[in-house]
Amino acid sequence: MGRYTGAKCRLCRREGVKLFLKGDRCYSPKCALSKRPYAPGQHGRYRRRATQFAIHLREKQKAKRIYGVREAQFRRYVELAKKKKGVTGEALLKILERRLDNVVWRAGFAFSRDQARQLVNHGHFLVNGRRLNIPSYLVKEGDSIEVRPQSKDKLRELVKAASERRPLPSWLQRDLETLRIQVTQEPQLEDLDQGIETSLIVEFYSR
Ligand code: SF4
Repeated sequence: MGRYTGAKCRLCRREGVKLFLKGDRCYSPKCALSKRPYAPGQHGRYRRRATQFAIHLREKQKAKRIYGVREAQFRRYVELAKKKKGVTGEALLKILERRLDNVVWRAGFAFSRDQARQLVNHGHFLVNGRRLNIPSYLVKEGDSIEVRPQSKDKLRELVKAASERRPLPSWLQRDLETLRIQVTQEPQLEDLDQGIETSLIVEFYSR
């Protein structure tokens, strides 16, 4: 499955909120949404009244874009979340958080989820001692993720710089010497910072 390779800032401008897709730039005055806080395109400056459908659609698109997931896979996550006990929206967020690329980013081993995805794709990580290059792998409690020995020198500086900017969520532990991440529990909703209204997403797929 391919991934979106177009202009990332365009996605933030479409959703009208910062999705933090570009690492450091997102925290600087160069952020495109700060400079042009309206939707992209010829009619982007004109506000239209949003229908209920549009509100649900935009929330779904926002979540997909934050986590860099395409439609078919996102739909599978929703189906998986529906089978879990408890509130479906919360289960969906927890599933998205458990993606390996997200965990690498959350732990501060990359500046953005895109960069984390690329590092995983290039085989720089071991999960429980085995090389794993699947960004969509869902980690579970007790998993140990480590930069593989051959990549440690290459990634050490990157991790040092990226980790300084990223507070560690309560469900992860990291060791910046051995470049290891430990998943200590399931993702905690209070650690999430993106303001996603999951109930709107679930309603979108229940139509
Ligand atoms: Fe979004 Fe980051 Fe671009 Fe700002 S700089 S518009 S937050 S991707």
